[in-house]
Amino acid sequence: MVKLRIIIEANSLRKHSPWFEHPEKPERIKYIIDGIKKNGLTDYVELVNHSYNEKEVLHVLERVHCRNYIEYIMKCRNNAPCEIDPDTYFSETSYELAMETFDLSYKTGLSIREQEKIFLVIRPPGHHAGRCGKAFNASTLGFCIFNNAAAAVLGFKDRGFNRVAILDIDVHHGNGAQEIFYKNKDVLHIDIHRNPHDFYPFTGFPEDIGIGKGRGYSANFIVLPHTGDDSYVQIVDYAFKLIQLYGPEALVVSAGFDGYKNDGLADLDLSQYSYYYIGWKLSKIDVPVIIVLEGGYSLGLIEGIPAFLNGLLSIEKQYGKTITNNKTSSYNLMIAEKIFNTITKLWRQRHE
Ligand SMILES: [Zn+2]
Repeated sequence: MVKLRIIIEANSLRKHSPWFEHPEKPERIKYIIDGIKKNGLTDYVELVNHSYNEKEVLHVLERVHCRNYIEYIMKCRNNAPCEIDPDTYFSETSYELAMETFDLSYKTGLSIREQEKIFLVIRPPGHHAGRCGKAFNASTLGFCIFNNAAAAVLGFKDRGFNRVAILDIDVHHGNGAQEIFYKNKDVLHIDIHRNPHDFYPFTGFPEDIGIGKGRGYSANFIVLPHTGDDSYVQIVDYAFKLIQLYGPEALVVSAGFDGYKNDGLADLDLSQYSYYYIGWKLSKIDVPVIIVLEGGYSLGLIEGIPAFLNGLLSIEKQYGKTITNNKTSSYNLMIAEKIFNTITKLWRQRHE
């Protein structure tokens, strides 16, 4: 039986608020709550006001981000409201919420119980925030300030877990988290995202598989525009096979719902079926799982998240109208098989 907790950070409903039209706004959390209510899942929700000790958080932050970047963000606090880059705004309360969210992610890694799966409904997202800000020479921070997934990984590490996996299902490449752990073999980073050739952040190609000791511990599965559920769920299967072979002691999911059809910022055609399927696959994982919210701006939150949660709870549901696209599936699956074979071959060689 899955023990699911949905932790909603109350401050994310009002803090870090844009003063102009921007998709990453507090209303996102309202959309999620509405979807949860409509689907009768409120029993799993906890609304928390997480308080943090600044000194303590800075100590952990320095293990994820470089000092210059942290100091830069602290300076932004004095200049707020301002725009860090063309994508990323910084309001008077952005620093507080980013700190709170980062700390909550870290502490959840420290304290989650063996059988639990915790969905952290948090803002701002974090997976584009690299070690010193923009990761792998990306053009912007893509709405992110601090890397929450990396914080959750550190929480797991600090309680003695040696091997942790990250699965990033946001439609954009999680370049920040991948960069932070690119040289590590004790953190497997798997990312399923839109082909970055012509899509933000223009990083995360299939040939990027990590360097040094980390070679073979980054996997970038890419999908074409208008990818439907048919090939997407098969790629999800490849990702879970890698996780199973790696055998992590804990899993962090960077959960973006912006691949949902007509969510707004991307061009995939995923339906509720794909998100239900990912949730259902996660329900079979028998290590602690922390799910951190990344992207998702409208329908992905309202319809995609309830489907994901139903899957996570192993609730029988039929999502009949799946979307198929024969034009994209053969390419997507050809690349996926290649990545899977390259990575597993490297792992076999290391064990020989
Ligand atoms: Zn995204």
